[in-house]
Amino acid sequence: MNLISSLSDLRTKRLSLLGTVGLVPTMGYLHSGHLSLVSRAMDECEHVIVTIFVNPTQFGANEDLSKYPRDLERDLNLLSSLSSPSSAKELIVWNPSAETMYPLGYQTWVNVEALTNPLEGAMRPGHFKGVTTVVSKLFNATQPHKAYFGQKDAQQVAVIRRMTLDLNFPIEIVVCPTMREDDGLAMSSRNKYLNKDERTAATILFRSLSEAKKMYEAGERNADVLRNKMKEVLASEPLANVQYVSCADYDSLEELNMIENKSLLSMAVFIGKTRLIDNFVLG
Ligand code: AMP
Repeated sequence: MNLISSLSDLRTKRLSLLGTVGLVPTMGYLHSGHLSLVSRAMDECEHVIVTIFVNPTQFGANEDLSKYPRDLERDLNLLSSLSSPSSAKELIVWNPSAETMYPLGYQTWVNVEALTNPLEGAMRPGHFKGVTTVVSKLFNATQPHKAYFGQKDAQQVAVIRRMTLDLNFPIEIVVCPTMREDDGLAMSSRNKYLNKDERTAATILFRSLSEAKKMYEAGERNADVLRNKMKEVLASEPLANVQYVSCADYDSLEELNMIENKSLLSMAVFIGKTRLIDNFVLG
């Protein structure tokens, strides 16, 4: 495994890599969800670049940038368990500084329009502008053939796909399933913020999505009925404070009346002070 911080070292390394390169962008504090993306990339590509960068521009003024968990040593240990020293396959970790990503006087942004308006975009103004800008910069710096993202961040996947098409990046976007704890809670670096009671309460997201999915599987196609079911289950948990509940078209992310095609159940819920998101894909 190879840890690189500077952009020039990354470029030199990238030029030396022959064959397919997979990119896994992360903000670090890795868990098994992140590692599933890295493993998939290692299976499918000759070399893998994992980036660890807590991107300041995707955090709102009142969000958790300063307390976002960081532990590079722990991350490197987890990643080294995936790479075999005898293999010709290189696992490269790029951990750029904020000054490298946003040099003094920075003023260039990538913005995807309609797709970033609803859901996370509505609740976190400017979030996706930060995400699309940093991912474009990571694409430029690492020049991957494939880039791996988690379904856990469903709108992010839709937005990155759109951006990749619109900006003609010659990169295949690979979407990997959401990894969950045994009780269904989607793995997230932010789960670390939850105290014991909150951790128990946090399973309500998975439980409400599961109830709605059960109704869908029994034939229910009215989106309001599914949204109401999710709200009803969430309301049963006193520690949960719902920000949004959605049943939307999978591609456009527009709210549905009736489900006819592939669609997305999604939600953002505060458990105490911790904001959690989760989703299920239907159809
Ligand atoms: P983050 O470090 O939160 O920016 O996440 C980095 C990547 O890991 C993103 O593509 C996420 O969608 C993905 N990811 C985060 N949590 C999970 C999970 N529980 N299962 C699968 N992928 C995940």
